[in-house]
This record gives sequence, C-alpha cells and structure tokens, in this order.
Amino acid sequence: MDFDFRPCKKTAIMGGAFDPIHYGHLAAAQTVFDRLDVEKVVFMPLGDAAHKHMEGASAADRYEMTRLAVEDNEAFAVSDMEIRREGKTYTVDTIGEIRKQNPDIKLYFIMGADEIMSLESWRQPEVLLKMCSFAAVTRPGYSNEAVKAQAERLMHKYGCDIRFIEIPSLDISSSELRQRIKDGRSIKYLLPKETEEYIYSHNLYK
Ligand code: ATP
Ligand code: MG
Repeated sequence: MDFDFRPCKKTAIMGGAFDPIHYGHLAAAQTVFDRLDVEKVVFMPLGDAAHKHMEGASAADRYEMTRLAVEDNEAFAVSDMEIRREGKTYTVDTIGEIRKQNPDIKLYFIMGADEIMSLESWRQPEVLLKMCSFAAVTRPGYSNEAVKAQAERLMHKYGCDIRFIEIPSLDISSSELRQRIKDGRSIKYLLPKETEEYIYSHNLYK
C-alpha cells in the first residue's frame, strides 16, 4: 500500500531492507515517534534492485513481514513506494519524489548509527541532506559521542538538520537473525511473533 503523506504535517520515514524487521527497528521508530512528536512513522522497505543479499528474502516477503510487525501500532504505517520503483532506487530520489508531492510537510528520515557514519557515501549526500531533517539513532557498537560528533560535522558541512536520539540499546541485526535461522537457532524475543511465524511458514532464510 502506498502511504498518503498529505494529511500529516509531520512524518518520519524509517528506511531499511527489513530482512527481516526486528525489535531494534521498532524501538528506534517508537522512540522517534515519542521524541519528535510526529504523526506517523512510515516504514519503507527497499526494493529488490537496491538490496540484494544472496540469502535474503524477496521484496514482497520483506514488505509482508514489515506489515505484520507494525499493524498493531496506530503510530506506524508501511509504504511500498521503493518496492514499486523499477531499477535501483536511491534515497535521494525517493525523498525527492515525496518532497515534490508534499512541499510543505515536515519530514524526518531515521538512520541508525552505522548508516549516519557512512552517509557521505550515499548518492548525492549534499542534495539529500537538504531535502529533509534526519534522526540519528544510537546503536550498539557505535559510541554516542562518535554519532553526535558525526551529526555535528555533517550539520556544519552541509547546513542540514540532524537530531541525535538515544534509543534503548538492542544488540539485534537482521544479518544475525538470518544466521541464527540458517543454523537452526532460536530467534524468539528478538522480533514480533507474527513476523517470526511468517518466516517459518514461508521457509525463509534456510
Ligand atoms: P543488516 O544486518 O542486514 O544490515 P540491520 O539490522 O542493520 O540489517 P537494516 O534493514 O539494514 O537492518 O536497517 C534499517 C535501519 O535501522 C538502519 O538505519 C539501521 O541503522 C537501523 N537499525 C537496525 N538495527 C538497529 C538497532 N538494533 N538499533 C538501532 N538502529 C538499528
Ligand atoms: Mg544494516
């Protein structure tokens, strides 16, 4: 389903592969929702062309796992905008399109510490950083000081707006979850039950 940004004055986008979605993503989104007072957090799974793990799930499965994980939360929504785009999708193009259609809304793009550290290697960072505000969330393995310093440096260099947001530390990654499934180890309590059941019933990540 596409998400209609028009009725919301203030929205955050949570981009990612969500291969699969886990409680680290959900805790980040909920904390941003509470702290930045946005009306919705929109989860936007990457399309297949932009994201290809040899062992990964298809865009359709990643979308469905994300939808199941967020459906009980009024604050959250899912958009298939990147999945529907043909060819390789870049964040700068996606945000650009949303901006063009909704010039007056306040938009945040949520990024984990690992992503904010490497943001300058993304496509056209100088353009992207001016298109919306950003929320840089903490993640185990990255010191808060390093993330704060990076946010400050980028704001100074590009004149952009980046909020530093401390979230509950959950040392969970999708790659670790995929590895556990492959090894036949449990993924219980690391992601929503509905998503876990979807993974097993569709025989993903084996
Ligand atoms: P992978 O291991 O496959 O890279 P991942 O767990 O990093 O998966 P992604 O889909 O790559 O998940 O991440 C989407 C966004 O969520 C990124 O901005 C990432 O930094 C952030 N994120 C993922 N896991 C966490 C976590 N445990 N705490 C905070 N942020 C997270
Ligand atoms: Mg990642």
